[in-house]
Amino acid sequence: MRIQNYIAGEFTDPISAQWLDNYNPSEGVVYGQIPNSNQADVEAAYKAAERAFPGWSRSALEERSRILSEISRGIQERLDALATAEAKDNGKPLTLAKQIDIPRAAANFQFFANAATQFSSESHETVGRNAVNFTLRKPIGVVGCISPWNLPLYLFTWKIAPALAAGNCVVAKPSEVTPMTAYLLGEICNEAGLPKGVLNIVHGLGSTAGQAIISHPNIKAISFTGGTATGAHIARTAAPMFKKLSLELGGKNPNIIFADADYDKMLATTLRSSFANQGQICLCGSRIFVEASIYERFKTDFIAKVKELKVGDPFSDTSNLGALVSEEHRNKVLSYVALAGQESGMKLLTGGNKVVVKGKEGGYYMEPTVIEVTSNKCTLNQEEIFGPVVTLMPFTSEEEVLEMANDVPYGLSATLWTSNLSRTMRMSQYLQAGIIWVNTWLLRDLRTPFGGMKASGVGREGGLEALRFFTEPKNVCIQYDE
Ligand code: NAD
Repeated sequence: MRIQNYIAGEFTDPISAQWLDNYNPSEGVVYGQIPNSNQADVEAAYKAAERAFPGWSRSALEERSRILSEISRGIQERLDALATAEAKDNGKPLTLAKQIDIPRAAANFQFFANAATQFSSESHETVGRNAVNFTLRKPIGVVGCISPWNLPLYLFTWKIAPALAAGNCVVAKPSEVTPMTAYLLGEICNEAGLPKGVLNIVHGLGSTAGQAIISHPNIKAISFTGGTATGAHIARTAAPMFKKLSLELGGKNPNIIFADADYDKMLATTLRSSFANQGQICLCGSRIFVEASIYERFKTDFIAKVKELKVGDPFSDTSNLGALVSEEHRNKVLSYVALAGQESGMKLLTGGNKVVVKGKEGGYYMEPTVIEVTSNKCTLNQEEIFGPVVTLMPFTSEEEVLEMANDVPYGLSATLWTSNLSRTMRMSQYLQAGIIWVNTWLLRDLRTPFGGMKASGVGREGGLEALRFFTEPKNVCIQYDE
């Protein structure tokens, strides 16, 4: 099966007639081809967006909101088909795609359909100088949205929906590893009545199609989610062109467990925050720190639960973990596991092996893996692995765990388990993370600022932050006569 680019409301082949293979990671086979787009395709997408911009940016808010709601409805109506496509393309369990990925993609559009009509701007009265300032928030123009493979439609729409709600036109590129649901979105947008060219979806590699978007002189803002190294490259390319940048990058998140936490809730949630989506969520808590007094108990119970997790066919209801996204990625994850046998102070407690699933022998499966470490300075605690691998380590004091939690290049999220309110407040003040969950994980309210600090990125998505990012403030100062 061949998918196509979505440009000016039409489905088109890549201009170069070059194609890339698309793999089904749960079977390890090529099941389709995607456009290997280049600068010419991006230029065509840009031109379509530029033509659509005057009409879309001046459209009535109610009309914009109505169309975004229709897209949300179209996604909901195709829940089964989109979830199936996502599971096949990515290797994630179908149940996860049905419960999380696709509903969230619909929610993204509905949220920003509503937000478009609620967005307001500021006014400042300059008392004593007979002046009033009001701030206009204008759409930027044509913007670029680039997303990764781990939550394909979920993150793609998380960028596109606010960009459109704010009145911009978009050139978007999903990950070449998981392009399928982005392709299906084009059809949904047409059915919803999105004017031609308002959203354009170009498929292809980061180094060619992605590069053409970030270096395009007239694409004025880039919203990117992906790896930190790619983010740094985008910043180097786009910053001298004075593009607005939102960079949501990698993480190495601490999961800090105090002895006074609700033990059962903590244990069940920690299992999820470690291995949901095969550990391929930027928010997974991959460094687990446990207060020494409950360390042995936790270790025993956690490992018992991890061993019960079933790795298998994403389309089976009983699979807790599906396949990793690609062979290359599984090899990378396994290379980190191999360090446990090479570096001192590390002990493999469970997992660490490839899994062969009957009938899907070519798939990229691996066991959920837990490694005990003795220092937060070790490679496994410092580098993002982005797979089903967590480390365990005891701590004895709040100061000690805070120092270890912060001692990484990243600062995306942190999870804290405690029933002590003062400790919660103290830790929340000092943890270097953009998102802190206390006694829960991945509980999302789409109004809240989302993003990281340090090597986890710059800027915030979500709610009004996203609408502010996708608009250019313009202050008008009027002085009046007495
Ligand atoms: P990646 O950086 O390899 O790719 C992300 C996207 O960028 C893809 O669409 C890719 O084609 C594109 N790209 C690559 N090179 C480019 C270039 N030169 N110019 C423009 N675009 C380019 O990341 P990935 O492997 O797809 O995703 C995994 C990473 O994403 C992990 O590091 C993970 O932590 C991160 N992530 C972060 C968040 C967050 O919200 N902070 C969420 C999900 C994933």
